[in-house]
Amino acid sequence: MASLGYDDTPMLPGSKWRVHDIARPHPRVVTPGDAGQPPSDAVVLFDASSLSGWRSIDGSGAKWKIEGNYMEVTKTGDIQTVEQFGDCQIDLEWAAPSVVEGDSQGRGNSGVFLMGLYEIQVLDGFDNPTYADGQTGAIYGQYPPLVNACRAPGQWQTYDIMFEAPQWDGGTLAKPGFMTVIQNGVLLHHRQEMQGPTGHRNLASYDPPHDAEGPLRLQDHGNPTRYRNIWARRLTGYDGVS
Ligand code: MG
Repeated sequence: MASLGYDDTPMLPGSKWRVHDIARPHPRVVTPGDAGQPPSDAVVLFDASSLSGWRSIDGSGAKWKIEGNYMEVTKTGDIQTVEQFGDCQIDLEWAAPSVVEGDSQGRGNSGVFLMGLYEIQVLDGFDNPTYADGQTGAIYGQYPPLVNACRAPGQWQTYDIMFEAPQWDGGTLAKPGFMTVIQNGVLLHHRQEMQGPTGHRNLASYDPPHDAEGPLRLQDHGNPTRYRNIWARRLTGYDGVS
């Protein structure tokens, strides 16, 4: 049998492990899903059967409609998950309305808010000029996406989001939040440092501190945007990193 590792190799700098360390713990096994399906360790947030894991912002039941395998905005306000997340990976699909109405921020506007506070813009950004830090995939009001990777209105599009929650030491920011975003397989943000919770027409700030976890929130901006296949993975649980 071939060697499974070594105990006589140099120590990796800044690590308690050697190069090819035989004692370094193995990552746990996750079974990946087929296309559009969640991996084995995901928290499934919407599987097309119900909105039981979602609430309106006032705490009442979510009132968006379910049709086929998707949910759709119904002008009943934002909805958010009961589950709370800090560092996480979020995967979802969305589609802007196939019937094009309005322009700029009024065309197919919605949004995916990490922790209920940090918006990745959802917008029909296909041949629809608007301000750069508000276009599809923008970290709203802070960073435009690196590219415009939008599909045509009505088509399903994917967001893969890797989110690192900010941390405070008392009232002092110890680590800002970071976000990596991929749309339709195309990188939009590469571990982008965020300036604080996103907002409209104002500067972001990490003051005051907020909770360590928050819900995943979807925005009702009055346009009938659709979502499906929403799942999350908490980014914890491997002690062999360093
Ligand atoms: Mg929005």
